[in-house]
Amino acid sequence: MDGATQLKPLTILGVTGSIGRQTLEVAAALQIPIAGIAANRGSDGLLASARRVPESAVVAVDPTPEEADRLRAALGSRVGFGRDALIRLAATPNTITVNAVVGAAGLEPTIAALGAGNRVALANKESLVAGGPVVAAAAAGGEGEIIPIDSEHSALWQCLVGERADSVRRLILTASGGPFRGRSRAEMATVSVEEALAHPTWSMGPRITIDSATLMNKAFEVIEAHYLYAIPYERIDVVVHPQSIVHSLVEFVDGTLKAELGDPDMKVPIQYAVTYPERKPAGLAGFDLTAADLTFEEPDRASFPCLELGYWAGRTGRSAPAVLNAADEIAVAAFLRGAIPFPAIADVVASTLNHLPVVDLASVDDVLAIDEQARKIAAEYVEVNGGSG
Ligand code: MG
Repeated sequence: MDGATQLKPLTILGVTGSIGRQTLEVAAALQIPIAGIAANRGSDGLLASARRVPESAVVAVDPTPEEADRLRAALGSRVGFGRDALIRLAATPNTITVNAVVGAAGLEPTIAALGAGNRVALANKESLVAGGPVVAAAAAGGEGEIIPIDSEHSALWQCLVGERADSVRRLILTASGGPFRGRSRAEMATVSVEEALAHPTWSMGPRITIDSATLMNKAFEVIEAHYLYAIPYERIDVVVHPQSIVHSLVEFVDGTLKAELGDPDMKVPIQYAVTYPERKPAGLAGFDLTAADLTFEEPDRASFPCLELGYWAGRTGRSAPAVLNAADEIAVAAFLRGAIPFPAIADVVASTLNHLPVVDLASVDDVLAIDEQARKIAAEYVEVNGGSG
């Protein structure tokens, strides 16, 4: 024995997505047992993952009847179905819950896992963006903890290890700037879906890629950082760093900056969230400093209004960030199907924020209710204003 603690088994929620698949690879490399896996549908991907981890429980949340039959035939009693099965899996005692569920559906599993005293390795944005007040209360009230998987928040976490809260002056999140860095709002009026989906440094799903192009993703990350590190918004900054090598920085009260650097590879923050406070070897070459050309610039807040909308929603707090998130999801979907031009994504979000009163969020149900309302308002706005650009 090398004195290292035994790593707890994982449950992986959202196993068929990019983070889920990479988590399976990290677990295999470190020989971490998998207690359970879950996906929304009963796809070939879920079945293939289930065969890779024959001891694990399997959950399909919303399969078609054919998919459910096929999973039952292949997996027998180790497969379960529906949201309740997902939430039970998230709350499996003595496991680390890797929450890579997409969308507001990830909120309840986070709360359930925290309630069971688990570590949540968190990749679900909505847990903190939409459900921040509820999730922060659940994390504060029990044995559970959240360790972020997102590269920026993992960087901040790593910079903050061993530091006192009153030593921190500000958090600085880096943003790649996306494919439209340097363009004006007018120049972005005619960009195509394909151009918007071509992210310069990270390979990700369509929504987060568009959110990176508008800088809304960075706005979400500012809100997540606020809840993760209990730091006021005026002490969270964003700097554009096109190479995505510096994953984020912390500035301390003595003027010192700490940064975390590395190649853009999500396996690193996934592994760290699982092994923290330890580090384990990873099958990566490491980062070549001599090949790096690192540049930093101010974000263009006029061309990318989503960043300010995010700060506004964050400072307003309560239900405003949930509205921001829901409206953005509708707006991005509308852009992807060609219903609105790229700059109108911010217009949909701003209009939805203006329409809805700000209310308190005391429960998951409150979050889901405001989420649904915001979607409806945003969809109406798209309906009325779409197609005209
Ligand atoms: Mg990120």
